Amino acid sequence: MSPDAAASKGTVRILQLYPRDMNIYGDWGNVLVLKQRLAWHGYDAVILEHNAGDDFPADVDILIGGGGQDSGQVVIQQDLQSNAARLRALAEDGTPMLAICGLYQLFGRFFKTHDGTVIPGIGILDIETHGGDARLIGNVVARSEEFGDIHGYENHSGQTFLGPDVRPLATVSKGEGNNAKEDHEGARHLNIVASYLHGSLLPKNPAIADFLIREAVTRKYGSFEPGTIDDSIAELARRHAAARPR
Ligand code: GLN
Repeated sequence: MSPDAAASKGTVRILQLYPRDMNIYGDWGNVLVLKQRLAWHGYDAVILEHNAGDDFPADVDILIGGGGQDSGQVVIQQDLQSNAARLRALAEDGTPMLAICGLYQLFGRFFKTHDGTVIPGIGILDIETHGGDARLIGNVVARSEEFGDIHGYENHSGQTFLGPDVRPLATVSKGEGNNAKEDHEGARHLNIVASYLHGSLLPKNPAIADFLIREAVTRKYGSFEPGTIDDSIAELARRHAAARPR
C-alpha cells in the first residue's frame, strides 16, 4: 500500500477566523501549511471559516486568524465581542490558536488606532495596543527558545505592550516586533501563539505549525504520532529570509 493510501490517523478541524476582513500579506498561507503538514503527518484536515455574522461552528481543534487594516478590525469587532466568552473558553481549555497582527491586537484588551478610535479586544491576552503615526515595516528575525529563529514580515501602526500575564513569543534580532521601545515580538499564553509576523508565518516556521498540530491532536486523541517530513524547502526559505535586508 502506498503511504498516500494509508489509513488516516484522525481528523483535525481548523477554523479560520474572519478570512473575509482579516487576511493580508499572505496570511491565508498559514491555513494551507496546517492542512499540508497534517496530511504529511497522516491526519485529515477540515477547513472551516467564520466571518462576521456567521454561526460559530462546533467542534473546532485549531483556530487561526490573520491581520487586517484598521477598517477591517472595526468591521469584525462586534462579532468578535459576541463570541468572546466562547473564544476564551476554548483558549482556557487548551485549544491551540494562532493570531497574527490585527487579530493578535484584538485578542488583547484594546487597540487605540492612530486616529484615537478605540477598538475593544476580547482580553484573552494581557496586552494593549496603541497606534502611532510611524508604521513598523520590514523583515524580522526573532529568537525563541521554544521555536528557534522565527522569520517573517511586519507592517503595523499599532505598538503592543505586554502585561504580566503573557510572555513574549521571541526576542527580536532584526526589525521591531511588538513595539519600537522593547526588543520582543509576539506573545505566548496557554496554547496561543500570537505574532506580528506575516509572510505568511508558517511556511518558514514549521516548528510553530507542528506545535499547533501536536497540541490539537494530543488534545483530541490523547497522543500525536508525527510523520517524517522533508523540510529542506522550508530550511532553504529560512536561510533566504535570514539573509534579506530589513
Ligand atoms: N491595522 C493594524 C495596524 O496597523 C494591524 C495591521 C496588520 O494586521 N498588518 O497596526
